Amino acid sequence: MKLFSKTEMQSLESEGVYAGVSLWEMMAGAGAQLARAAIDKWGQPKGPAVVLCGKGNNGGDGFVCARELAELGAECAVLLLHGGPNTDLAAAAFARLPPSVKVLSPGAEAEAALMGAWLVVDCVFGFGFRGELDRISTGYLRLANSLPCHRIAADLPSGAECDTGRVSPDTLRAELTIAFTGAKPAHESYPAKEYCGEVRICPVGIPPELVSKAGTSGEVTGSEHLRALLRPLDIQAHKGSQGRLLMVCGSWGMAGACVMAARAALRCGVGLLDIVCEERVYPLLAGAVPEAVFTVLDGPDRLFGSLKAANACVLGCGLGNGQESLIRQVLGCCPVPLVIDADGLNFCARTGFDLSALPVPHVITPHPGEAARLLGRSVAEIQAGRIPAALELAKLSDGPALLKGAATVTARPDGRFAINPTGNPGMAKGGSGDVLAGMIGAFLSQGAEPFEAARGAAYLHGLAGDRCRDRLSARGMLPTDLSSELLEIFKDF
Ligand code: ADP
Ligand code: ADP
Ligand code: MG
Repeated sequence: MKLFSKTEMQSLESEGVYAGVSLWEMMAGAGAQLARAAIDKWGQPKGPAVVLCGKGNNGGDGFVCARELAELGAECAVLLLHGGPNTDLAAAAFARLPPSVKVLSPGAEAEAALMGAWLVVDCVFGFGFRGELDRISTGYLRLANSLPCHRIAADLPSGAECDTGRVSPDTLRAELTIAFTGAKPAHESYPAKEYCGEVRICPVGIPPELVSKAGTSGEVTGSEHLRALLRPLDIQAHKGSQGRLLMVCGSWGMAGACVMAARAALRCGVGLLDIVCEERVYPLLAGAVPEAVFTVLDGPDRLFGSLKAANACVLGCGLGNGQESLIRQVLGCCPVPLVIDADGLNFCARTGFDLSALPVPHVITPHPGEAARLLGRSVAEIQAGRIPAALELAKLSDGPALLKGAATVTARPDGRFAINPTGNPGMAKGGSGDVLAGMIGAFLSQGAEPFEAARGAAYLHGLAGDRCRDRLSARGMLPTDLSSELLEIFKDF
C-alpha cells in the first residue's frame, strides 16, 4: 500500500484539479465522508456534535461535515479555533452552514459545548501540520481527549506530522481517522499511528487512475513483497544452488544468538550454512545446529576462506564487545553482501567505523538502542521520529537500514522506505532480532536485492510472530517458536 507524503498528496490534488475535479468537490466529498463515517461507526447521533475547525481548507471540510451532520438530525456546533476561514473555499463552505449550526469561538461557551459533546470532529490541521501545536489547539485538544465522547479525525489527528509520524504532546486521540484519498506515513508509523485509532481510507473525488499511478516514496510492505522473495524451488536444486550463508555470531555467554539466527536461516531454505566461532563455543553450537559447517577461529586466513566461499554473511548477533579484531577483519575483507546487527553495529558506533565505505552491499538492522548509539541521540529521540531516523541511518550507512520495533521501518539512502505491518509485542523478547538477522541473511545469500530481502524478511518475521501469538499467546511465545512457525507459513504459501 502506498503512503502519500504531504507534497505527494499536494501534487496528487493538483493533478486531480488538472483532470477536472475542483477543490470544492474534494472538500464536499471529504466533509460528507466524515459525517457518514461517524454515523456508520457510532449510529444515529445520541447527543451534540462539535466540529473543531482550523482556518484553512481543513476547517472547510469541517463546515461541510457540520452541515451534513445537521441534515442527519444532529445538534451541531463548529468551533473556530483560529478565527474565521481564510481561504475562499473554506469561506464558501462556511457561508453554507445552516442556521441550526452554532458558530463558536474559543471561550467559556465553547468549552461547555465541548464538554457536552457526544461526538468531536477534528478538522483543525489535517495532513499539513508540522512542528508543535499552538496554545489554543493544545487546550481544546487536551480537553477533547479528556472527555468520554467519540472522536473522529479528518485525514490525521491534529498534532500528528504527516511525513515523520511525530506527535505533539496533546495530539487528538482519535477513535476513527478518515484518510482522504490515500494513507499517509503517519497512519502507519508510531507514535502517530497510536493516535489514529481505526483508519479508513475514503476517496474524495480524485480519479482512481490518478491515485493508482501516483508514485510515493513510502509504502507498507505486503504479502506480494514476501511472495517475490519466495521463488519456487527448482526441481534440479542442489545445496550449492540454494545460497551459502556465513555467520559470524555468538560468543561465550551468547551462543544462543547464533543458534537462533542459524536455525531461522536454515528454515528460510539456505543450502549451506557456515559458522565461524571461538573454540570454546564450538561444542555447544555444533550440538544445536547439526546442519552447519564450522570454522573454529585460529587465524585470518581461515576467516577469509569462509567469507570467500559464502554468498552472504551475517555479522554481529551475540558477538559481545570483546571481538573487535574479528569484526574489523570481517568488515575489512568481506567480499559478499553483509547483514550487520547488534554487536557489529555497536562496534561501528563505538569506533566510528564508516559503514558507507563498505565496498559490498550491506543491510544494517539496529533496534532503537543501537540506532541511538549510531546516530549519537537518545532512544526517545529515535522513537519520536522513526521514519526520519531510519532514513538518516540509511544515509549514514549508504545502504538499507531496518529500524526495529513496532512498525519496523526499512529505509533506503535514496529516501524510499517501507513500513512493516506485521508483528506484535509477544516478539519483545531477547532473541527475536537474531531470528530476523538470520532470515535476512538467508534471502541475501539466495540473491535477493538487499532492501527487498530486509523488508520481506521483516514482514515474514512479523507474520510468524502473529501466528505464534494466535496459536500460543503473545505472553508465552518464544523467539525459537518463530522459526518453527516458518514451516507452517511456507506450507500455506
Ligand atoms: P542488547 O545488546 O540486548 O540488544 P542493548 O543495551 O544494546 O541490549 O539495547 C537494549 C536497549 O535498547 C533497551 O533497553 C531500550 O532502551 C532500547 N530498545 C531496544 N528496542 C527498543 C524498542 N523496540 N523500543 C524502545 N527502545 C528499545
Ligand atoms: P534481540 O537482539 O534480543 O534478538 P532485538 O531488539 O534486536 O532483539 O529485536 C527484536 C525484534 O522483535 C525486532 O525484529 C522487533 O521489530 C521485534 N519486536 C519487538 N517488539 C515488538 C513489538 N512490540 N511489535 C512488533 N515487533 C516487535
Ligand atoms: Mg538484537
